[in-house]
Amino acid sequence: MSRTKVLFLSSEMTPFAKVGGLADVVGTLPAALRALGVDARVILPLYAPVKRRYLDRMTLLDERSVRLGWRSQYSGLYVMNHDGVPVYFIDNEYYFGHDRVYVEYGFDVERFAFYQRAVLDALGDPMSFLPDVLHCNDWQAAMVPFLLSAQFRSKGYHEGMKTVLTIHNLMYQGLCAKDLAADLFDIPTAYLNDGAVLAGPAANPLQAGIRFSDAVTTVSPTYAQEILTPSFGENLDGLLRERKDRLSGILNGIDTAAWDPRTDPYLAATYGEADALAGKKACRRALRKELGLKECVAPLAGMVTRLYAQKGVDLVLEALDAIVAEGVQVAVLGSGDPGYEAALRQAQARHPGRVAFANAFDEGLAHRIYAGSDLFLMPSRFEPCGISQMIAMRYGSLPVVHETGGLRDTVAPFNRFTGEGTGFTFSRPSAGELLDAVRRAQDARKHEPEAFARLVLSAMSQDFSFRRSAGTYKELYASLLAGPRAGRTGRGG
Ligand code: ADP
Repeated sequence: MSRTKVLFLSSEMTPFAKVGGLADVVGTLPAALRALGVDARVILPLYAPVKRRYLDRMTLLDERSVRLGWRSQYSGLYVMNHDGVPVYFIDNEYYFGHDRVYVEYGFDVERFAFYQRAVLDALGDPMSFLPDVLHCNDWQAAMVPFLLSAQFRSKGYHEGMKTVLTIHNLMYQGLCAKDLAADLFDIPTAYLNDGAVLAGPAANPLQAGIRFSDAVTTVSPTYAQEILTPSFGENLDGLLRERKDRLSGILNGIDTAAWDPRTDPYLAATYGEADALAGKKACRRALRKELGLKECVAPLAGMVTRLYAQKGVDLVLEALDAIVAEGVQVAVLGSGDPGYEAALRQAQARHPGRVAFANAFDEGLAHRIYAGSDLFLMPSRFEPCGISQMIAMRYGSLPVVHETGGLRDTVAPFNRFTGEGTGFTFSRPSAGELLDAVRRAQDARKHEPEAFARLVLSAMSQDFSFRRSAGTYKELYASLLAGPRAGRTGRGG
C-alpha cells in the first residue's frame, strides 16, 4: 500500500512562526508521523521574517492569481525541507509581508481566507502533491472542509480527499460578518440560509469546520469531554454533541529534542535526571541574576504564558502578595492584555527582588525559566492541552495547575502518603485554591525534601514525546480512508 499523504494547514509552526502551543504541535507532529511512515507535509503563510531568514533555502514551485471574492491576488508557492519535513509556503506581500503572525483581527479574517483559497488552488500539480487527508488546524484553516465540500467535491474534484479539523482552542472561532464571509469565500446562498456556516447574523468558520470535516479532534481527552458542555462549549457545544461520534481527544506531546535540559543551548548549565539538583541550582542562580531576583533558599515559581484571562493571570495577581509572603519568588514571562501587563509591572515594583516580570516573547528566557524554576504556575480557567506544563515537568519544574483539560490529563497530583505524582493541582479556579496548592508545594519542599526530590525526578522522567499520539492520528487517517465518506450534517457535496 502506498504511504498515506497528509497536508497540515496551520498559521503557526515552530521554528518559523510561533505565538503559542499550536506552533509546537505543528512543529513536531508531522515529523513524528513521518517516522511512522505517513507522508506528512505542512503548508504555511510566508510571513516576512520567515522570508527574510529562509528564502535562500526555498524553491519556487508556482506563481498564480487566486480569486478571493472580487479580488484577484498574486500567490507564490515555495517549498523547503525542514528536518525531513517538506514545508510549503504561500507568498503574498500584501497579506503576509508583516513581522507578526496575527496583525489585526478584521484583516486577519481576510488574510487567512486568502491563505485557505491559495492552499486549495495549490493542491495537486502546483505542489506535485495530492494529499489523501487535509489536516486543518484552528479557525485559520477551518473553512477548508466546507470549501472542499461546497466547491470541489460537488463538482467531482477531490472526492476521496478527507478532512480532519483539530481544535487547539475552541474560544477562537474566526467570527466575521456574513456579507464579508460570503464575499471572501464565495459561499453559495443556499449555505447562508441554514446553520452550516452562520451563527446568528455572523459567519463562524470554526462551526463550519466542525460541521463539514470528516473528523474533529481536540488536543486532550478531558477537553474533548468538557467542550460538550455549555460551560466550556463556547456556544458550539450543541453542534459538538451532534457530531460527538466524529470527535476525539488526542493528547499533544512536546518536541523532546528541542526541549531537553541535557543539551539545551540556552541554559547556564545543562542537566539530566542524575544531576538535576545541581544543574537546576546553577540555572536558578543564573536566572535570578538575569531577572534581578535576590539569591536565597526560597523556591522560585515561574510562569511563561500569553497574558489572557484564559490563563488565570488574574488569579496569580490576586494571590501574588500572599504567595510572596509565603517566601516564594515569582518570575513571569509573557505579553498580552495591557491591564495584566500593567498589574504585573506594579507587582514587580511592590516586591523588588522577589517578583520579576519580563514583558516580552523571548524563546531563550522561556527555556531559562523552565530550567531555573522549582514550581511552574498554570492556573488556566480552561486549557485545551497546554504545552508549558509538559515542558516544565521535563525541566524538573513542578507544575501547579487547575485540574482542567490537558492539565488534568498530564499532571498527576502529589500524594503525600504514597509519594506519587508529578505536580500540585487544585479543583476550582480561584486565588484561594491556587495559594493553597502553592503552600502544599512549599510545605513538601521544606518538610519532605526527599519526597520533593523524587517528585522532580518523576516529573522529568515522564514520556511527553509525540510518538504515541502520532500513532493515534495515523489510525484516525487510516479509518477515514478505509470508511465511507462522512455523514455530514450540513448541505454538501
Ligand atoms: P497556548 O497555546 O494557549 O499559548 P500552551 O501552553 O499550549 O499555551 O503553549 C505555550 C507555548 O508558547 C509554550 O511553548 C511556551 O513556552 C510558549 N510561550 C508562551 N509565552 C511565551 C513568551 N512570552 N515567550 C516565549 N515563549 C512563550
